[in-house]
Amino acid sequence: MADFSAYFTMKEADAVEYARAKLDVFPRDARLSCKEIGDGNLNYVFRLKDEETGKSIIIKQAGPVARLSDEFVVSPDRNRIEYDILALQNELAPGLVPAVYGYDPVMNCTVMEDLSEYVVMRKALLEHRIFPLFADHITTFMANTLLLTSDVVMNHKEKKERVKQFINPDLCEITEDLVYTEPFYDCPRNDIFEPTREFARRYLWEDESLQLETAKLKFEFMNHAQSLIHGDLHTGSIFVKADSTKVFDPEFAFYGPAGYDVGNVIANLIFAYANGLQTMPEGPEKAEYTGWLLETIRQVADKFQEKFLNLFHERATERTAKYPGFDKYYLGQIMKDTSAVAGLELCRRTLGIAGVKDLTTIEDAARRLEAEKLCLIAGKTFILRRSEIVTGDDYVKVIKESEALAITR
Ligand code: ADP
Ligand code: MG
Repeated sequence: MADFSAYFTMKEADAVEYARAKLDVFPRDARLSCKEIGDGNLNYVFRLKDEETGKSIIIKQAGPVARLSDEFVVSPDRNRIEYDILALQNELAPGLVPAVYGYDPVMNCTVMEDLSEYVVMRKALLEHRIFPLFADHITTFMANTLLLTSDVVMNHKEKKERVKQFINPDLCEITEDLVYTEPFYDCPRNDIFEPTREFARRYLWEDESLQLETAKLKFEFMNHAQSLIHGDLHTGSIFVKADSTKVFDPEFAFYGPAGYDVGNVIANLIFAYANGLQTMPEGPEKAEYTGWLLETIRQVADKFQEKFLNLFHERATERTAKYPGFDKYYLGQIMKDTSAVAGLELCRRTLGIAGVKDLTTIEDAARRLEAEKLCLIAGKTFILRRSEIVTGDDYVKVIKESEALAITR
């Protein structure tokens, strides 16, 4: 029997042993069941349940290589980052992330709250379900976690300690390659829907001005330690139910540009929109669903800004940040990054190695092509015109224009 004094990747039976030997959660003689439920790219997720009481927990263990491809070797230390940031985010944005109960630096695993009564948002959106409170919840999460970890609020030396604590080179390298580089040339590692290839070549790869902007943005991503960002805030990293939202899977977290998270949320709502547009039959249900998505995108942009400014005025401690006009200047920079990152995410999920089901499950080839064109047209626009795209209305306008252009181009 393993004593868990040296790292190995656990199977379900090992996770049960682990819970008995190492955790103070279940009675010694509890009848425990365990299932590995991971569907992500990098890790193993075990759900343990006491069959008598129904009490359950999650153990998430970092494997030595990505499940996506063993080309990606990622330090298991990312599990420490995940534990540390969830603990911190629970303080900064209470109730909006899973509670964590412990971290084991030998087995590289974190024990956390079981959220099985929630559904992963991407899955719910593929079923075209509506979550009216989502915009409110996610904007609170982002305004709090992004502003309260920045130099506007934090003691600057403590903030620099945090930058050290959350340095995350392996996961950042994945983002630098997969988001900022590979989608913008004919990289062999891209995973392209063949009918889209010609459009990608003409519209993106042959546009040197676009490549130049992606280079500027990549250096901004690598060199702007502004806020402790989630780093992978797509709809597969968000659990939802009618009255509650929980952000999880923050292993890409590091100190980077605050707009990175906001842009990711907006882009992933646009994938859901493109899916609804192309797969739902015409009628009131489709109108309601796509209308809700546009309204949610509008609210994410607008409510984030409103909450960020309010919190700024309440919580800023840095003397110079309180000079009149700095608040709006600072937020303006974040919104510029938000637009750019929304654009990068739209392009990279459409063309790159890590696709999204919102697009890949559209069965009709012509419809999938149209959905992908919408995403690429909006994506390029968000990157190139990032200084002008600020309000919720600006986002909705670009989406509607891209929708029309996707049919004609
Ligand atoms: P990865 O880092 O490999 O992407 P995730 O944290 O995204 O791993 O977890 C993979 C899947 O496991 C999730 O999509 C979800 O279905 C399930 N899962 C993860 N954390 C929890 C949790 N706290 N409660 C219930 N299910 C979870
Ligand atoms: Mg995941």
